[in-house]
Amino acid sequence: MNYKIPFNKPHITGKEAHYIYEAVYKNGHISGNGIFTKKCQLFFENKYGFKKTLLTTSCTDAIEMCALLLDIKEGDEIIVPSYTFVSSALAFVRQGAKIIFADSHSNHPNIDENKIEALITPKTKVIVPVHYAGMACDMDKIMAIAKKYQLWVVEDSAQAIDSFYKGKPIGSIGHFGCFSFHETKNIQSGEGGMLAINDEQFIRRAEIIWEKGTNRAEFFRGEVNKYNWVDIGSSFLPSDIIAAFLYAQLENLEIIQKKRKEIWNCYYEGLKQIEESGHIQLPHIPDHATNNGHMFYILLNSLKDRSELISHLKANGILSVFHYLSLHKSPYYNSKYSGPNLEWSDNFENRLLRLPLYYSLTNDELTYIINCIKKFKF
Ligand SMILES: *Cc1c(COP(=O)(O)O)cnc(C)c1O
Repeated sequence: MNYKIPFNKPHITGKEAHYIYEAVYKNGHISGNGIFTKKCQLFFENKYGFKKTLLTTSCTDAIEMCALLLDIKEGDEIIVPSYTFVSSALAFVRQGAKIIFADSHSNHPNIDENKIEALITPKTKVIVPVHYAGMACDMDKIMAIAKKYQLWVVEDSAQAIDSFYKGKPIGSIGHFGCFSFHETKNIQSGEGGMLAINDEQFIRRAEIIWEKGTNRAEFFRGEVNKYNWVDIGSSFLPSDIIAAFLYAQLENLEIIQKKRKEIWNCYYEGLKQIEESGHIQLPHIPDHATNNGHMFYILLNSLKDRSELISHLKANGILSVFHYLSLHKSPYYNSKYSGPNLEWSDNFENRLLRLPLYYSLTNDELTYIINCIKKFKF
């Protein structure tokens, strides 16, 4: 079906093709780790103070790199919220790890930090906070637990570019931060991602794992005189054509963020009245978090309400979508899961609805969507 208002439209800022042209015809370097890759990485390091960043072909890849860097192996346990995208868990499962699923807060899809400690065993290696809708988990609490039990923290910051926890950039607090530039995220390159390495001891090995287990990056910097196979790894780096596209987006970061936050606020103001009538709940922004305009969601009172509202919007040409199905109940993990019910994860699975949010969404379209929701018979 063709929707008058789709859920997402990729945003082109204008200079993408120009920079791709530059990469191809001027720089003459289109494989990975070229001029635009370096420009993008520097952009992030300078703006957010990440110690070292490496572009990857996806956020999934960035999390997989963490699993390799941390030598995750069979029997290791990884604490992941159940209400998240597959990749937060998948990257560790590939190394044979067992996922210990954690529940969400009652008023926010983020992992409930107060329930993490009870899940820790001598086998626990990593905690994966996922900053849902770009809103920060309580990182002070998580880092304190990690320190106490000597665990690693991999921030799944896929949705959280340019968002902050008590003033600190998301993705800069854990040992690693993993970002996505998938076309559904704020900053896009079709598929794409980035690993931020905040613990210096991992930088050298991260570069090697990134480049198929070779010391190629060091060789090209003249730091070693032979280029050799030195470790495990894979081909995690994107071509410089993708980085060229991404760089055009990064130059427009402020404009994109401003627009997305305006749309978010417009939804919030427009739907307040319905919240007051008790039919929906609007997103809760934790005190320690900022909102980066990644996603606008509402919570319905029941699965039935949500299904009917989706149909109502669909009949009016608007595509709205529900989000994650709890991973602990997924066809892949269900039979392996032996933990308790995760009440709040299941609750968000049934009640959360995401509304269209993309750069080119016009005021008229926004008003139309809000009015359609207002006309719905709850
Ligand atoms: C989008 C997303 C991912 C995956 O990102 P890719 O770049 O598509 O691999 C992982 N985790 C979360 C929370 C996401 O929203």
